[in-house]
Amino acid sequence: EKKILGASAKDLTPSYDWFQTDSLITIVIYTKQKDMNAELVIVDCQDKQLRGEIIVDDHSYLVEIALDHAVQGDVAVNIAEKIGEVEIILKKKDNIRWKMLGQHLESHNTFIKRTDRGLFYRKCKLISKTEVTHDTKLLCLMLPKSTHLHVPTGQHVYLKQIIEGKEVVKPYTPVLPFLPLDLKEPSHHDGAYIYLMIKIYSCGLFTQALDHLQIGDYISVSNPEGNFKKSQVQTSEDLFLLAAGTGFTPMVKLLSCALTEVSCLRTVKLIFFNKTEDDILWRNQLEQLALKDERFEVQFILSQPTKDWMGKQGKISLSLLSELVKRRKDSKVLICICGPTPFTEQGVQYLKDLGYSQEEIHAFTA
Ligand code: FAD
Ligand code: NAD
Repeated sequence: EKKILGASAKDLTPSYDWFQTDSLITIVIYTKQKDMNAELVIVDCQDKQLRGEIIVDDHSYLVEIALDHAVQGDVAVNIAEKIGEVEIILKKKDNIRWKMLGQHLESHNTFIKRTDRGLFYRKCKLISKTEVTHDTKLLCLMLPKSTHLHVPTGQHVYLKQIIEGKEVVKPYTPVLPFLPLDLKEPSHHDGAYIYLMIKIYSCGLFTQALDHLQIGDYISVSNPEGNFKKSQVQTSEDLFLLAAGTGFTPMVKLLSCALTEVSCLRTVKLIFFNKTEDDILWRNQLEQLALKDERFEVQFILSQPTKDWMGKQGKISLSLLSELVKRRKDSKVLICICGPTPFTEQGVQYLKDLGYSQEEIHAFTA
């Protein structure tokens, strides 16, 4: 009997190469992935240190080099999606010939589980702070020109600050600067900015420090993390979004993605739980969107309404969900839920009690 040589030895570990011209250094990463895209490529270049991370399913490939010579501030990234090649193009500071790319750093050329790769932070500049409600602000952070980073729908980043001498880290879910009211065009943002919608708590350790940042100050922002897969929404026909308070944040990109990119989508219903009317985030934009797009519906539910509130009230409950989350015959349903932990846990349990399967429910958690 003949043995088939190499049949199982197909090596899916990415590899890289580099070349130069008088003015440029190009690093090519052969990812061996068919569906490469900008969200799977994270590049940073600071103080002559280049870090290029490629996400391949639940693995991470890293190019990490202390460059031999100085480069200019901006970095270009080209992605050949079909053939899975990623080019990182650096501009030489001086037009001299490099004998080598540089010194390999500790994790260079490793291909490991994504969860085993430590978080990497870069400093981002606070560009603006605008009020969303009495206690919630929209922060715009600018990534360095030498960073290539796109936060995928449904994922969060970590912010890091030194507070009273201690490093403190908290997760936040990037949003869009506004909801997509012009639905003809898929919202394309160039990736230079990260928008965060953050509730400032009067006794909150991290958010108080954040609130004291001035325009022009810097804050450390990590690589994205999270287990939501966009493919979950790309095949859904009826989408339900259950959000409580700032649990609305992952719903922003999700809503935008669903309404602009999902062709099989028939309805999206946002059920938005808040304490009072004044706490409702982007109420006006949501109502405008509902008027503009007949697939989209929004329902506000208040747990501490004033007497004149004509809408629904209460907290998440079985009866409320059985009334508001209805399955249409044979339709493919996805229900996403996010808010305070007890809200999310109760919600998931009620949905299961109503007969929805694990695959039909996505809970956003830490
Ligand atoms: P803390 O100092 O931790 O306290 C916050 C407030 O809650 C204070 O008033 C405190 O008194 C009270 N509190 C603290 N612990 C408890 C408790 N166990 N029970 C009752 N009350 C308590 N937040 C956003 O605003 N926007 C986002 O986009 C966002 N995304 C997130 C994504 C993920 C994956 C997760 C897990 C959380 C996200 N959060 C988001 C919450 C955020 O990470 C912080 O928890 C929040 O900003 C509060 O931080 P803090 O240090 O200011 O507050
Ligand atoms: P909030 O205190 O203003 O409450 C908003 C609504 O949540 C209330 O009106 C109520 O309907 C519901 N709720 C609150 N506590 C509840 C409880 N114990 N049981 C059932 N329902 C309850 O909310 P907030 O201050 O805006 O907090 C938002 C929460 O969402 C935070 O805990 C934050 O960490 C979390 N969050 C998580 C993610 C994520 O995991 N990806 C993202 C964003 C926010």
